[in-house]
Amino acid sequence: MINKLVTLFSLQLIDDELDELEELRGDLPLRVNALNARIKEMQEQIDEKEKLKSDSLEKRKTNEAEIERLDVSLKRFKAQLYQVRNNKEYDALTKEIDHSESEIERLIAENAAMETNGEKLKIEIEDLTPNVDELNVDLKENQVELKKIIKENEIEEIKLKDKREKVAAKVKKPDYNVYMRIRKALRGKAIVKINRAACSGCHNIVPPQRQIELRQNKRLFTCESCGRILVSQEIVDAAMKSLS
Ligand SMILES: [Zn+2]
Repeated sequence: MINKLVTLFSLQLIDDELDELEELRGDLPLRVNALNARIKEMQEQIDEKEKLKSDSLEKRKTNEAEIERLDVSLKRFKAQLYQVRNNKEYDALTKEIDHSESEIERLIAENAAMETNGEKLKIEIEDLTPNVDELNVDLKENQVELKKIIKENEIEEIKLKDKREKVAAKVKKPDYNVYMRIRKALRGKAIVKINRAACSGCHNIVPPQRQIELRQNKRLFTCESCGRILVSQEIVDAAMKSLS
């Protein structure tokens, strides 16, 4: 049991050091993530608008070709008007002419509306683009800063992670899971020592009988107030010695 407690506390000591390295990064990782998400979102908006703009340009070109084609047939119909031989032919031709004219009108109106919309999209894209550029500059700065901090402690971090892996391998899976669960719930500190008569995690007094049992290092005790695993000074000293 002593060994188990010492190993668990060693793990805590290593994690404390890793947490300190993590803390040096401050809110930089969060900021980088937030900026990345914001940039992605805005870029998607720009892309979508670009797509709408080019689709509408494509459609306008098709419409223009159609207008040209209708214009040609319109001219032909109008020329044919002079050669009609009866009312039936005349009616048929004027019907074609009306149809072509209204179709041309419709296409011209459609193109005008698309052109207006295209202008609107262009302005929206122009408004968004400098924002994205600005965010990208901000992102770059944060990334450089973060990289610098990571780089400064890289060797130490690798060493600690290596050490952690070795110690963690000695911890039984259920114990490891308990440790990680408490650690996650209580922001890092899963195992604390009993300091004088109190839990050094929450500063609540540990009952005298429990204190005596704790000092015997025969069982895994958790603090009744905060739920952290409690260890005696003897375990702390042994863990520190094992890591040095
Ligand atoms: Zn406690």
